[in-house]
Amino acid sequence: MSAALLAWYDAHARVLPWRIGPAARRAGQRPDPYRVWLSEIMLQQTTVAAVRERFLRFTRRWPDVASLAAAADADVMAEWAGLGYYARARNLLACARAVVSFHDGRFPETAAALARLPGIGPYTAAAIAAIAFDEAATVVDGNVERVVARLHAVQDPLPGAKAALAALAARLTPAARPGDHAQAMMDLGATVCTPRSPACGSCPLAQPCRARALGIAALLPRRAPAAARPLRRGIAYVGLREDGAVLLERRPDRGLLGGMLGFPGSDWAEEPAEAPPAAACWRDAGRMVRHVFTHFELELAVRTARLPADARAERGSFVAPQDFRPSSLPSVMRKVWEAAAAGLAPPGPGRG
Ligand code: SF4
Repeated sequence: MSAALLAWYDAHARVLPWRIGPAARRAGQRPDPYRVWLSEIMLQQTTVAAVRERFLRFTRRWPDVASLAAAADADVMAEWAGLGYYARARNLLACARAVVSFHDGRFPETAAALARLPGIGPYTAAAIAAIAFDEAATVVDGNVERVVARLHAVQDPLPGAKAALAALAARLTPAARPGDHAQAMMDLGATVCTPRSPACGSCPLAQPCRARALGIAALLPRRAPAAARPLRRGIAYVGLREDGAVLLERRPDRGLLGGMLGFPGSDWAEEPAEAPPAAACWRDAGRMVRHVFTHFELELAVRTARLPADARAERGSFVAPQDFRPSSLPSVMRKVWEAAAAGLAPPGPGRG
């Protein structure tokens, strides 16, 4: 199976900005562990399409681990904005600094040593070790789970079947070219063995695939029903000073959206209490913002106020218009800004 998969990869590997393709590998080029690591962290919980441009921008700005380690926290957090899961950005910096401080600027070469760095879990450690250093580590992400579940017609639902699928994936991992094998499995899952309509006719593993033979490929992997996400509510306050400065607050380092800039607001709870950050005539913007986090859904009411030039904030600080970039806000705060735009347009009487 591995030989058929590698032959397919040699012909069909996706061209990705962090990847050294199979032809270049044969010509002796080695992947840059920094780029492999960065791409794996960026790709967690999101897609190649969402990451490609961001990765290029990030690596233009910080082309190696030393430059990233020396970057200001706020710059990295702003560059990460919109990718979500902001703890990853904080760990990214911590990891880059650990590599520079304790490993002489070189990433360790084994999955076991990589897993001791901040923000590198077992999956990411295996992926970096396999792709960058050709360790025969087994890399199991959602794509790989799907391919393996189908190849072996595993009917037990996820997440309970995870360990069994990982063991089956390990049996497929070859001693030769384990990095290309890992990337081939990811590519197969992303382009051929897709979630809803697997293209079994173009699959290099069609012959041994049991789910295809049984006609149940599109039904696998099965999943246990997900628990409904609870709903939390909150209130966000968008204050605009006469000179165009915007009232923003950096969120605490720990917790959701930790370290990111955002609009001051209430707690996120079942029944949030008003918590205006400055004395003003706050008006309802007339639009709610909804955002889905991993463990809950958030519904934010948006209040807006125009503030005098000498306004004083009890929380947060005013950011001059030339320094305010909505694109450096996390997605939920960008939605708040868009919702507030209507409320801020015509100054007029408001509610206290
Ligand atoms: Fe997936 Fe079909 Fe290939 Fe089986 S034959 S691995 S179901 S694409």
